Amino acid sequence: MTLEGKVALITGSTSGIGLGVARALAAAGANVMLNGFGVAAQIEEMRGEMERAFCVTVHYDDADLMKPEQVRALVKRTQEEFGSLDILVSNAGIQFVAPIEEFPEAQWDSVLALNLSAVFHGMKAVIPGMKAKKWGRIINIASAHGLVASANKVAYVAAKHGVVGATKVGALELANDGITVNAICPGWVLTPLVESQLVARAKEAGTEVSSEAAKLLEEKQPMLKFTTPEAVGAMVVYLCSDEAQTITGSPISIDGGWVAQ
Ligand code: NAD
Repeated sequence: MTLEGKVALITGSTSGIGLGVARALAAAGANVMLNGFGVAAQIEEMRGEMERAFCVTVHYDDADLMKPEQVRALVKRTQEEFGSLDILVSNAGIQFVAPIEEFPEAQWDSVLALNLSAVFHGMKAVIPGMKAKKWGRIINIASAHGLVASANKVAYVAAKHGVVGATKVGALELANDGITVNAICPGWVLTPLVESQLVARAKEAGTEVSSEAAKLLEEKQPMLKFTTPEAVGAMVVYLCSDEAQTITGSPISIDGGWVAQ
C-alpha cells in the first residue's frame, strides 16, 4: 500500500485506460476521484465496487473537460472533498479520423480542447497545492502518437505531441519542488476508443473486427499484442513511488516497439 493517504484524480476514468489506472492507484492505497461519461447507475456500481475491493474512498464527478471552468471546478472539488490532490492523471481523450483536407474544424477544436487544453488547465490548477505540500505527481497519458505520426489523425497527433511538450515544460519548472511530470505513450490498447476504430474499419473493408484488430497491430507494432489498461496502471503506480522521484520530463513508451522503428 505504497500510496496510502494520497489523493489521485484520474480524468476519463469511467472506461478503458483511465479505469485501469484508477483501479491500480486504488489498489496501491490512494483515494480516488473518478471522472468521465457513462450510464450513471453503472458508474455508481463501479465506484462502490472499487471502495469495497480496495478499502479506499472513491468519489465521482461528471465534469466535461472540454470546458476549462469545469476542469478547474473538478480540481477544486477534489481538493475540498479529500483535503488534498497529490496525483493528477490527465487521461481523458477522444479521436477523430479524416484526411486534413476533409477534417471538420469543429472536430479539430474538440480534440484539441480535450486532448491538449484540458491537460494544461489541469496542470495549472493542481500545481499550487502540490508546491505547498512539496510533493506531487503529474502524469499525462499521451500516446505513441505523441512521438510519431499516422495519416488521417492530424488533431490527435498534434494534440499528443503538444502533451509531450507541455510535460517537458512542467518537469523543468517543477524540478526542485518535489513534483515530477511525465507522459506515458501507449501503443495500441484495446479500449472502447480503439474498438470504435476497428468497427469503422471492418465496415469500410467489409471484414470482421477480429481481422481488423490483427491488421491494426501489424501496421504499427512489431509486437503483435495489445497493451492492457492494467499495464498502464502499473506504470502510473511506479511513477508515483519514491523510487521514481528523479524520473521527470520523460515520455515513457509502452508500445510493443512501435516508436523503436
Ligand atoms: P476510452 O474511450 O475508453 O476512454 C475515454 C475516457 O474519457 C472515458 O472515461 C470517457 O467518458 C472520457 N471522456 C470523453 N470525453 C470526455 C470529456 N469531454 N470530459 C471528461 N471525460 C471525457 O479511451 P481510452 O482508449 O481508454 O483512452 C484514454 C487515453 O489514452 C486517451 O487520452 C487516449 O488518447 C490515450 N491512448 C489510448 C490508446 C489506445 O490504444 N486505446 C493508445 C494511446 C493513448
